Amino acid sequence: MVTGTPDLPSTPPIDTSKAHPARVYDWLLGGKDNYPVDEAVGRQLPPEAHDAARQNRAFMNRAAAWLAGRGLDQFLDVGTGIPTEPNLHQIVQRTVPTARVVYTDNDPIVLRHAEALLVSRPEGVTDYIQADVRRPDQILEHARRILDFERPVVLSLIALMHFVPDDQNAHGIVRELVAALPSGSHLVLSHAASDLYPELAEQVTAEYAKGGIRLGFRTRAEVARFFDGLELVEPGLVTATEWVKDVPAPRPEGSGIYAGVARVP
Ligand code: SAH
Repeated sequence: MVTGTPDLPSTPPIDTSKAHPARVYDWLLGGKDNYPVDEAVGRQLPPEAHDAARQNRAFMNRAAAWLAGRGLDQFLDVGTGIPTEPNLHQIVQRTVPTARVVYTDNDPIVLRHAEALLVSRPEGVTDYIQADVRRPDQILEHARRILDFERPVVLSLIALMHFVPDDQNAHGIVRELVAALPSGSHLVLSHAASDLYPELAEQVTAEYAKGGIRLGFRTRAEVARFFDGLELVEPGLVTATEWVKDVPAPRPEGSGIYAGVARVP
């Protein structure tokens, strides 16, 4: 099922005249669903931006697999991005074939490619809604039709919140989404750091700004505030490459992305 929000047409046009975050990220990951304007921004970024995208996606893989391995079977993924295999539902349905996954993004190109997200295992369910994280009420209203909020839900906000600056109430939005989750739910969040490689962070922010995309990287303390009131699971709030369970990475590479998973008490 593909559903548009009431105030958005279900197939809005793709604007190829300006760069879009989902398409720049797709270019960084080596995908083909981007346009010359997106590539132009990508080409100005330092090589570390490719590493960050890959490391972030790998964190998503590990965190999703770990949560599915703990029996979590309902996922609300906001800021899904252009489909890139393996997608979240493919990862979790390997372990829990009956898992239900609701995907959300505000970029029409993700809606255009949503079929790839909707090929669920027959035992499970996947669903897509075009919506903006800045309207958490709309996302929750839709998700409640697919997921049972009386049972634990995993909310994933992966490489999303650095597109929502403080003046757009980033922390309040996450608080509102988390408040809807019952005990035993989890928040999975990754976020570009302003304080790990500050010069690179400034360069990346400046290049996106030239492409018309506003980025707000955050310090570790600012990212930690997204987890207020929650119980961070080991290894805590670390970099994307350090977030490993069971088998520690032999030689973790440096990463400018913070990542964490936390339980709702
Ligand atoms: N979560 C995926 C994709 C990250 S790229 C991953 O980690 O691999 C960031 C995504 O957030 C893009 O697809 C972009 O379109 C989406 N996004 C940016 N601002 C958004 C907003 N306000 N509401 C919903 N999605 C948004």
